[in-house]
Amino acid sequence: MSRIGLLLRGIRASRREGYLHLLSGVLSRPARWQRNFPSRSDQGARCMDCGVPWCHGYCPVHNQIPEWNALVSEGDWRAAWEQLESTNNFPELTGRLCPAHCEDACTLRLSDAPITIRAIELAIIERAWRRGWVRPQRPTDASLDQSRGRVSIIGSGPAGLACAQQLVRVGHEVTVFEASPKIGGLLRYGIPDFRLEKWVLDRRLAQMRAEGVRFLTQVKVGVDMDARELMQDGEMLVVASGSCTSRDISVPGRRLTGIHFALAYLTGQNHSLEPGRAARTLPIDARGLDVVVIGGGDTGSDCVGTAIRQGARSVTQVQYQAEPPHHGDVLRHWPERVPELKPNDHDAEGGRRLWGWETVAFASDGQRVVGVDLQRLRWRQQDDGRWRREPVSGELWHLPAQLVLIAIGYEHPAHGDVIAQLDLRLDGRGNIASGDRDYKSSHEGVFACGDARRGQSLIVWAIREGRQCAEAVDRHLRGRSDLPRV
Ligand SMILES: Cc1cc2nc3c(=O)[nH]c(=O)nc-3n(C[C@H](O)[C@H](O)[C@H](O)COP(=O)(O)OP(=O)(O)OC[C@H]3O[C@@H](n4cnc5c(N)ncnc54)[C@H](O)[C@@H]3O)c2cc1C
Ligand code: SF4
Repeated sequence: MSRIGLLLRGIRASRREGYLHLLSGVLSRPARWQRNFPSRSDQGARCMDCGVPWCHGYCPVHNQIPEWNALVSEGDWRAAWEQLESTNNFPELTGRLCPAHCEDACTLRLSDAPITIRAIELAIIERAWRRGWVRPQRPTDASLDQSRGRVSIIGSGPAGLACAQQLVRVGHEVTVFEASPKIGGLLRYGIPDFRLEKWVLDRRLAQMRAEGVRFLTQVKVGVDMDARELMQDGEMLVVASGSCTSRDISVPGRRLTGIHFALAYLTGQNHSLEPGRAARTLPIDARGLDVVVIGGGDTGSDCVGTAIRQGARSVTQVQYQAEPPHHGDVLRHWPERVPELKPNDHDAEGGRRLWGWETVAFASDGQRVVGVDLQRLRWRQQDDGRWRREPVSGELWHLPAQLVLIAIGYEHPAHGDVIAQLDLRLDGRGNIASGDRDYKSSHEGVFACGDARRGQSLIVWAIREGRQCAEAVDRHLRGRSDLPRV
């Protein structure tokens, strides 16, 4: 038999084996199929090409996962990359940072480890960069023959960037305005280097510049210029300004020196690492300090990792949620995310996590913070099924802390500047109100996408919104659009 024949037979066998294994798992027999899958191709070959590909449905950009799994397992990496690029502008970001709900929804998870979809995604795109397949994509002559519009985009996070790339590829003139010194939004100034090295972003930005996107940095629209100036001569405006108004806690001692919002801390660290910066001093330095991070989530975890790398004496992350089970009940929750304790790199690095404690006060030496007072919580399920937290009497704890970082989420986009100038209507949560199909705001010719519209979310959702918003803008300008809706 030829090598190709053997390969195809292997794939078919592996799928058959996968189905048999799934059946045995559903019948509650203990998992006994503990094979090692050393390569991405082996992982791809585990895919069963399910009748209903839950992974695809649970991916916000609807990546065509079973298709690339098959192509990777057959060794056709170029075709796999073409599939991937057709739905996702920045797989090098999602392949590194996406929480991968696709893997939670993988059918194999019912009885075994899911396919390592995110790692395959990253392997495909990194191979494509190495081989030189990723090149600027210029608009076709057919798109250029159609009427071209001018679009200004406020904000250069993943939503603004995805929107810009989609629009420039069908021939529109696109300018991105960014308040910060460099392009990238939270990818550049929020997420630390140890999770996203900035060359990954710069590599993609070079492609976008070559495609014709204009970037203007250090222009805060609404302050340095009036947002309405961007709309002269029928120009369209997309607001993709993110959602970075930090949520605060209101307890005694909150205004003490040494208590900061997490984003201020992470942004300062990212700025200090920029090449060519004259003063490499840190605005907020954890060296030698006891650090308490209040709040879980990506932001809190990034604070823990940063403080450890800065040389903190101790780092404790406090959250009011109860500790999740170490092994979740997959059959009960699948294809949704199973609540269970996720491994955290910072545990091994020396960070400590406390569950079920609430901050009730900050202690001071008269001026600076010196500690955090915690109250133990108990979670009780109510008659209506909801869980409510209540204090456990007498269980208090005092943690020493000379630096406290508040990482309990974000409320909405900044309401001054652009939103005030354009008098944009807000939704009940304080985000910009705009349709989830047409992305139109309450101001004619102004669209909104990303966190500014949906509230603080994920990179993959920002990419999806940027792509869909581009399709809506293109349709508005030309009466129709060849861009995909996702
Ligand atoms: C610390 C941290 C870690 C995270 N980790 C992850 C992760 O691991 N995985 C994941 O999927 N998601 C993660 N997220 C969430 C993710 O980064 C965001 O959901 C995503 O960046 C939102 O993209 P966006 O384009 O809507 O907005 P942003 O990335 O916030 O970009 C908005 C941009 O608009 C600019 N801007 C605002 N107003 C103006 C103005 N008036 N004029 C000009 N420019 C303006 C801002 O300077 C900013 O650069 C994390 C978030 C944080 C804070
Ligand atoms: S973008 Fe996220 S959800 Fe979609 S395939 Fe990649 S890892 Fe999975």
